[in-house]
Amino acid sequence: MARGKRVPLRQKGLILMRIYLDHAATTPTRREALEAMLPYFAEVYGNASSIHTEGRKARRAVEKARQQVAAAIGAEAREVYFTAGGSESDNWAIRGAAQPLWEQGKRHLITSRVEHPALLRTCEKMEKLGWQVTYLPVDAFGRVSPENVRQAIRPDTGLISVMAANNEVGTLQPVGEIGRIAHESGVLFHTDAVQAVGSIPVDVNDWNADLLSLSGHKFYGPKGVGALYVRRGVRMDPLIFGGEQEKGLRAGTENLPGIVGMGAALELAEKERPEEAARLTRLRTMLLDGLAAAFPDCQMNGHPEHRLPGNLNLRFPLVEGESLLMRLDLAGIAASAGSACSSGSMEVSHVLTAMGLSEDEARGSLRLSLGRENTEEDIARVVEILPAIVRELQELRS
Ligand SMILES: *Cc1c(COP(=O)(O)O)cnc(C)c1O
Repeated sequence: MARGKRVPLRQKGLILMRIYLDHAATTPTRREALEAMLPYFAEVYGNASSIHTEGRKARRAVEKARQQVAAAIGAEAREVYFTAGGSESDNWAIRGAAQPLWEQGKRHLITSRVEHPALLRTCEKMEKLGWQVTYLPVDAFGRVSPENVRQAIRPDTGLISVMAANNEVGTLQPVGEIGRIAHESGVLFHTDAVQAVGSIPVDVNDWNADLLSLSGHKFYGPKGVGALYVRRGVRMDPLIFGGEQEKGLRAGTENLPGIVGMGAALELAEKERPEEAARLTRLRTMLLDGLAAAFPDCQMNGHPEHRLPGNLNLRFPLVEGESLLMRLDLAGIAASAGSACSSGSMEVSHVLTAMGLSEDEARGSLRLSLGRENTEEDIARVVEILPAIVRELQELRS
């Protein structure tokens, strides 16, 4: 979709433009990525494992995308493994690394309390399999302290997993320092960089990352495709067994169009990143200033500086996030209360409560995540609409 172009929605005779502010949940596949993908459905359809011409064409496309992904994260192409998305990459990073570590006598994992459910649920599974897991606390801004990481390391610690950027509140973790501490102790370091890749500079060597997860649909690529970076020399077990694809570590015929689309989207995201990050930071500041002027009692969740350019998470007293979401949707604005995964239920965000928010404060929180197609006009419109909706809901409550 071209920037600024939106789907008009007819409602009561008015043409209502949708404003999408939920880019942390997913992004639209950008036109260039879609166009790059199209030939790989029906024209170039070979199985990348076949040795005939059709297969070799598919193989070349997969390897080109592997290079595009590797270049974006400072890796070598052979260290990039394609998966079916961020959740699979997170599951595989932990489970795949854990088995060889277990054989070396390791029994302990370290992670944080604000990780994505794909990571947290996997760690809970590891506990059932006999591992001990330390869930590190975070400060009021959602940050893990590197000193706490250092103190949690034991002789039998095998792996540390701390996300690069939080999907709910946008806080960036000190992954560079955490990676250095891990390596000083000979412990593997994984980072879920699904929100970071394409938004902030990511370099597996600067971060001392041994394993890094990313996902296509968070940077304007297609859904259902992702990658796991595995540093050369790190021993991994497969998560998906079967054929010899991905050097025998991830079975299954490659998602050719998806992989091509993800590679194209990431190359473009990297090229545009410095300018786009500055633009999104400007829009986010405009939005925060506008809403803070209308609501002196609204507060920002997450770190004021160490945060993703496009993420704004706010809390409004005496408001139910879910009701706010529904009212905003009717007014043409798509946002999120906490994480997308929990917004179908009434569960409060584990991230916000880990940051010390009360259940009520967590319930009154709203995530507005900006992206490529958002404009200053969108921000102005949200600043105009949102305060009236919040006031109305506050009056209903009080
Ligand atoms: C979206 C997201 C995931 C899951 O990625 P999928 O591709 O949707 O499975 C994992 N971690 C973080 C931080 C995310 O934002």
